[in-house]
Amino acid sequence: MPQSSVGLSQATEDYLKAIYGLAGDQERAVQTTDLAGALAISPASVSGMLRRLSKDGLLSHLPYRGVRLTATGRRLALRVVRRHRILECYLTNRLGYDWNAVHAEAERLEHAVSDELVERMALVLGDPPYDPHGAPIPTRDGEIAVPSLIPLAEVPIGTLAELRMVDDKDAERLRYLTSLGLEVGTRFEVVDRQPFDGPVTIGLPGRPPVALGLALARTLGCRIHEPEPRSPPEDSLPAGA
Ligand SMILES: [Zn+2]
Repeated sequence: MPQSSVGLSQATEDYLKAIYGLAGDQERAVQTTDLAGALAISPASVSGMLRRLSKDGLLSHLPYRGVRLTATGRRLALRVVRRHRILECYLTNRLGYDWNAVHAEAERLEHAVSDELVERMALVLGDPPYDPHGAPIPTRDGEIAVPSLIPLAEVPIGTLAELRMVDDKDAERLRYLTSLGLEVGTRFEVVDRQPFDGPVTIGLPGRPPVALGLALARTLGCRIHEPEPRSPPEDSLPAGA
């Protein structure tokens, strides 16, 4: 089995990263079928690998609920995530790659680069906090600050929002967003949202309004920009407001 630069098998690194990705911020238990889907592997072979990782102390089984990374498993997962995201930054910022082309490269390189190379890249880049898709980069010490964002699908009409995070895996979708003038940091107004899973219409400065399908709008993490307050006298606010 091919070994990564830090002595784990590539498969182990891919499993740890996938479990971390599926578990989310709250470290939910991850089910075998979801993991099999994410890795595009049959549930039967996933089960075998999970037994091994459990024996190695990288994850624990929760009866009827799935698996969860141990502290060691999480630390190793975050190390792979850091390598991946630093690589993506380096490819876009230093080598001129488009944001839609870096994920596939980083998937390959994340197993091959040494920690020293990654840390040199991070240094040259000035320790970026986010990757080109807006995902937070874990620190060297394995800390990660996940921003609390709201999916575009849930941003209220009439609100000014900023695109902060997009999924990095679908290059076609990223190209589409680029064609609309959307990238991480773009601000826009939510102009309309149709009921019954209808589209969300946004307005970008200097462009005609554009309608985005709800499935796409659900994958776009946004931060809401409160309108500048028109200096309301504080003592006129009702109590508890
Ligand atoms: Zn990526």
